Amino acid sequence: MSDREPYQPDNIFAKILRGEIPCYRVYEDDVALAFLDIMPQADGHTLVIPKLAVRGLPDMPVDSWGPFMQRVQKVAKAIKVAMAAEGLNLRQFDGAAGGQTVFHFHMHIIPRWEGIALRRHGELNEKPENLKATAEKIRAAF
Ligand code: AMP
Repeated sequence: MSDREPYQPDNIFAKILRGEIPCYRVYEDDVALAFLDIMPQADGHTLVIPKLAVRGLPDMPVDSWGPFMQRVQKVAKAIKVAMAAEGLNLRQFDGAAGGQTVFHFHMHIIPRWEGIALRRHGELNEKPENLKATAEKIRAAF
């Protein structure tokens, strides 16, 4: 798959943005939406997506980085508190060869604790009741 294909409005994150399918929302404003990854690499693994029709990292308008990364930082701080995370990983997979599977630009925020290894990317579905409880905990930390 070429990285230069146009944005596809039927991608799953676009459907989440339009409210056509549900998500475990942790934060939303006019710039970004943050929700839990349903196949978390660690508890509290969250995705932050811009409210822009942007396929990948090279397509993000230069002026959108500042406002978007402010939201990433805001969500990261809440995750750190809510999950008592000792550290965080920010990850971004660009292009199919880079591991990108959903072609609406997004940033992964993954809590880390000493001695706890990450689960594999996009491997295991988390139980809905666990995702619900985690989302509530993070929402309460803003
Ligand atoms: P990437 O490989 O960077 O494109 O990441 C896409 C991520 O989206 C993976 O980590 C998936 O587990 C996650 N994912 C896929 N579908 C959904 C969904 N409906 N809600 C939340 N996360 C999803």
